[in-house]
Amino acid sequence: MRTRVLAVDCDNTIIEQIAAYLGFLNRYYRANICLGDIPDRNIMGRYGISAEELYQREEEFLRSETGRHLPLCVGVLEALPRLRKKYDLYVVMVTARLEDLRDITQEMADRHFPPGTFEEIIFTGRRGAKSVRKTEILPAGAILIDDHPGHVRSQGGILFGDYPWQHDCGDLIRARDWFRVEEILPGLLPP
Ligand SMILES: [Mg+2]
Repeated sequence: MRTRVLAVDCDNTIIEQIAAYLGFLNRYYRANICLGDIPDRNIMGRYGISAEELYQREEEFLRSETGRHLPLCVGVLEALPRLRKKYDLYVVMVTARLEDLRDITQEMADRHFPPGTFEEIIFTGRRGAKSVRKTEILPAGAILIDDHPGHVRSQGGILFGDYPWQHDCGDLIRARDWFRVEEILPGLLPP
């Protein structure tokens, strides 16, 4: 039985989401939010957008032609299936998206990755409530790859990418891209 669970975030870890999403928000709000303007990812707080409204915008964006065809992060298509096979990993995708977005999220996974790459897709976003914490859902010992420092600190794993909200990453293990993930993940796996 496979006991090595690898949990992988979706947005800004599997797919490059933030640049196109900011473009969408800027067009919608006639704003000029730049990547460096959201060092804490708190778009709502800074621009007075409610959580509910932001969920609506996010859904519109992700269902748009652009949102459904976002580019993959560099190297993920090669590294993830290779790691899964080589180390017999049980791979789950865990995302703060709403469950409502299961169809397009599954569609993205099916379009890009070999069948069965992801055993399941877990959605932690909750409309009208705080997202469920990823650590509450993942089994202890699961290794998380995520661009969000808080999730990685709680669960353990690899902080992915190079984003302005990663300034408080302390001693977290980091990987700039999936080629680096492939180099360091084997050393983190349980025997
Ligand atoms: Mg993310």
